[in-house]
Amino acid sequence: MNFVKNHNFKDKVVVITGAGGVLCAFFAKEIAKTGAKVALLDINLEAANKYAQEIVAEGYVAKAYQTNVLDLDSIRATRDLITQDFGTCDILINGAGGNNPKATTDNEFHEFSLPENTKSFFDLDKSGIEFVFNLNYLGTLLPTQVFAKDMIGKKGANIINISSMNAYTPLTKIPAYSGAKAAISNFTQWLAVYFSRVGIRCNAIAPGFLVSNQNRALLFDAEGKPTARANKILTNTPMGRFGEASELLGGILFLMDEQYSSFVNGVVLPIDGGFSAYSGV
Ligand code: NAD
Repeated sequence: MNFVKNHNFKDKVVVITGAGGVLCAFFAKEIAKTGAKVALLDINLEAANKYAQEIVAEGYVAKAYQTNVLDLDSIRATRDLITQDFGTCDILINGAGGNNPKATTDNEFHEFSLPENTKSFFDLDKSGIEFVFNLNYLGTLLPTQVFAKDMIGKKGANIINISSMNAYTPLTKIPAYSGAKAAISNFTQWLAVYFSRVGIRCNAIAPGFLVSNQNRALLFDAEGKPTARANKILTNTPMGRFGEASELLGGILFLMDEQYSSFVNGVVLPIDGGFSAYSGV
């Protein structure tokens, strides 16, 4: 990724939650190449550690920290360790998030008659809904409470949240995830305003539909042809293709880097091949 060279975050402390996951591990690896000291936070220490070790093996600076973004004591303990290891946070990327099957309906539309055992809206589990709202919303708010305190007045300080296409128009089947990501877009604007006098910008990216190892099997059949769901996505993506995780990176670096975005505050940047702009007609 050559354009990483256009950014210099030498000795900046970049804290990334969910960094044991697909997207944020990738961001962590690329951001480390800009000279930043990267803290990879994840509830799954093994995953975060694997990526941190890969970064260090390439000669860059990174360390993994086991952290539950829903537990203030855990986040505060991590904040103290990072401060000892690298110094206080300059840039926070709130990447931990996701959906849960318990908060997902089987059907796209309710019908007068549905096959037996269909998990409809009426069967969604309260604990699943809470899990998804908490992980995405509180899991962004609580780390921000802990890390932003140290970012006040630091040159170039900023926060990046991860929203979703669901925030604009909800996708079928996943009402809790859609609502939680809409809340993330809203919270991004709220934070941008709240911190605007103390030098912390806050923005978000809203990724469109990406192919990753996790969803490849859902999107393509054994012969590599798009599945029915994949075709629906492609039909509604004006550029007619899926994005790659690497195509999110430019947006992240742009928002992180005050050389490029010092007056950009409170935006949710869709990176979606035009999906959110398209009515389908
Ligand atoms: P992922 O599932 O690969 O990674 C999420 C990571 O969060 C995992 O490593 C998991 O262990 C960690 N995590 C879960 N609960 C945690 C907790 N309580 N505390 C700390 N860490 C916890 O997901 P991803 O695809 O890399 O997505 C990253 C972010 O991007 C999420 O917010 C997701 O909602 C968002 N997003 C992803 C896509 C996509 O296509 N992959 C699209 C839009 C938005």
